[in-house]
Amino acid sequence: MNSDATACGPTGWLPPYAPAEPAGREAVLNSILHALPIGVCWQRGADGENCWCNESFSRLTNRDWTGMTAIDSLAETLHPEDQPAYGAALTQLRVGATEQCDLELRCQVGDEIWWRRFLLQANRSPEGRITDLLLTVTDISERKQHQEEMRAALAGAEALNEQIELAIGRAQEAAVDANLASLSKSQFLATMSHEIRTPMNGIIGMTDLLLETPLNREQRDFADTIRVSGEALLTIINDILDFSKIESGKLELEEADFFLRDCVEGALDLMAARAREKQLDVLYEIADGTPAMVRGDVTRLRQILLNLVGNALKFTPKGEVVVRIEPEVGGIVAPGLMGFHVSVRDTGIGITPEGQSRLFQSFSQVDASTTRKYGGTGLGLAISKKLAELMGGRMWVESEVGQGSIFHFTVTLATRPGSARPNVAVARALLSGRRVLLVEDNDTSRRNLAELISRWGMEPLAVGSEEEALAALKTGRNFDIAILDAQLPGTDGVQLARQVNQHRSGPPLPLLLLAAPGQRVPEGVTATCVAKPLKAVALFEALAAAFGRPSEATVPIMPVAKASATVQTTKLLLAEDNLVNQKVAVNLLKNIGYQTEVVANGLEVLAAVERQTYDIIFLDMQMPEMDGLEAARRLVELYPRPEQRPWMIALTANAMQGDRELCLDAGMDDYITKPIKKVELATAIERGRAVIAGRTVMS
Ligand code: ADP
Repeated sequence: MNSDATACGPTGWLPPYAPAEPAGREAVLNSILHALPIGVCWQRGADGENCWCNESFSRLTNRDWTGMTAIDSLAETLHPEDQPAYGAALTQLRVGATEQCDLELRCQVGDEIWWRRFLLQANRSPEGRITDLLLTVTDISERKQHQEEMRAALAGAEALNEQIELAIGRAQEAAVDANLASLSKSQFLATMSHEIRTPMNGIIGMTDLLLETPLNREQRDFADTIRVSGEALLTIINDILDFSKIESGKLELEEADFFLRDCVEGALDLMAARAREKQLDVLYEIADGTPAMVRGDVTRLRQILLNLVGNALKFTPKGEVVVRIEPEVGGIVAPGLMGFHVSVRDTGIGITPEGQSRLFQSFSQVDASTTRKYGGTGLGLAISKKLAELMGGRMWVESEVGQGSIFHFTVTLATRPGSARPNVAVARALLSGRRVLLVEDNDTSRRNLAELISRWGMEPLAVGSEEEALAALKTGRNFDIAILDAQLPGTDGVQLARQVNQHRSGPPLPLLLLAAPGQRVPEGVTATCVAKPLKAVALFEALAAAFGRPSEATVPIMPVAKASATVQTTKLLLAEDNLVNQKVAVNLLKNIGYQTEVVANGLEVLAAVERQTYDIIFLDMQMPEMDGLEAARRLVELYPRPEQRPWMIALTANAMQGDRELCLDAGMDDYITKPIKKVELATAIERGRAVIAGRTVMS
């Protein structure tokens, strides 16, 4: 190291108490400079003679500069890539382009890189000649390492970000694809539904009409078979459509207030004919504490019941099928929400444990052989289970071969406070204290009936046979009414009905006969028939009527078969492009008692409405040139006030969720799905007529 620093320091730098003699002062300065953590290199003149470095300079540049011109030679210690930058800075300083250069450069130390900050300064004479150069160096490796880490982290984050963005992009693309896929799937379903239902409408509708014409026995049998097959095909199509809708997540539940009892009775009503054919008793019980009115998707709940009761009837050769609804144990899920437990019990063939494990899977039947006795797609239970799950519940089975099965499911529904039927109070007032002789051989049915009428305040004596009934009468016990099962073992209720009043003195005992739907009261007997499966409302109406109160139907429904003069004055227009469907609808309407004009598309509707006034228009949703929805929108535009325009009923073959909303949004007033059923058609017309009549009264 160059220790000749005698000329380096102005003497004024040292404090007065520093040694006075030059050698002492030099020693002090030397020790201070060498102690600095910063590397310092000072060079007299610009040419590199008389160069002095402190120890830190040597350490930080990893070289002993003794006897060397460090400032000129420093480049040799630098990383090859940084050498030109240092050389350029030195030149700039020497030519006077700058007085100071601040450089961050790498020293190459073996395989290692040391980051250093170099500060290069020139002092000049008044003429501009360089008198001396000063180079300081500090260690910035740590900072550089941090910077490097930061940069790497940033680069990593950026790379990650890129990947995330890429993934989001892909997910979005996939979502769009999936959307398109499910959109096209649901579109496909809608189209398929339409395409299949349209000809089905023709088959079922025409067969219905055919069955109302004079036919011989064989012809009637053939037509009946077509009808039953058509219905079966429609069920299968509906099942497949439903299943696809559920699978693609397209099934949305609707929400509306409904009476649980109506829902069960509605389902059992539809099963009545099948039960009658197999001579099975179909009963239901609604446990105490079950709210009367709830809010949820009544159609889907009914669908589950229909499936379970349908299966129960299918797999039960004799005995009974009992539906029971009760609040689930710990039933209140949240304020206003309640869990319900529904069970469908049968006395049928039962299911083996192995068979039970296969249930609820799509397309799975316990007997999967091609020679199997019972038909079906094996979709019903899979759909029902998924529907129950959509309604916040589950489904399971208990069964024993030869003994029967109980299918259970739970659902969560919103409860409606204070939703008891208004006529329960009326029932109590009217029926309270009346003594009833109840004769019914089926134990469950007898118990249910007794319970039901007791809740209305009646006092039943419930017996299971004709003998017991007659014995009860002979005791002289007083009854106000008798409810008799029309099919009693060994005898029948009709025979009993005849006997009941034979032994009586005084006014005859009013009789209610629990009979198969459509069964007539035989001659010589005065009785009122109440159809089985028994509906509480129907029983109440019959009892109420027996005790002098007329039936309390709120909307008078025009009897389907009896067309009155007013019917003829209701002007109907049907817009339907398909010729077969036109024929079906026109004939069904004729059958109910209405003449209809027919047009084939929306444009023709608008023209027809201009020509004359119609009360009700049926608008097919899909028609060429202008569809039903557009026609409805135009009519609303033309006649903004509802009473100015016809009552609009949509006809659709789609039956897809959302169609109803589409129709109502377009301004339609009602909605019927194809295949069109006579009863639905008649009821829809009646609804329309009731509203129109209401308007007339108001105005
Ligand atoms: P399917 O349309 O074939 O009736 P489901 O999914 O409704 O389809 O029923 C699947 C199978 O479960 C039936 O084929 C039958 O083997 C069995 N099963 C359903 N309900 C009952 C029942 N109540 N008693 C006996 N077996 C039943």
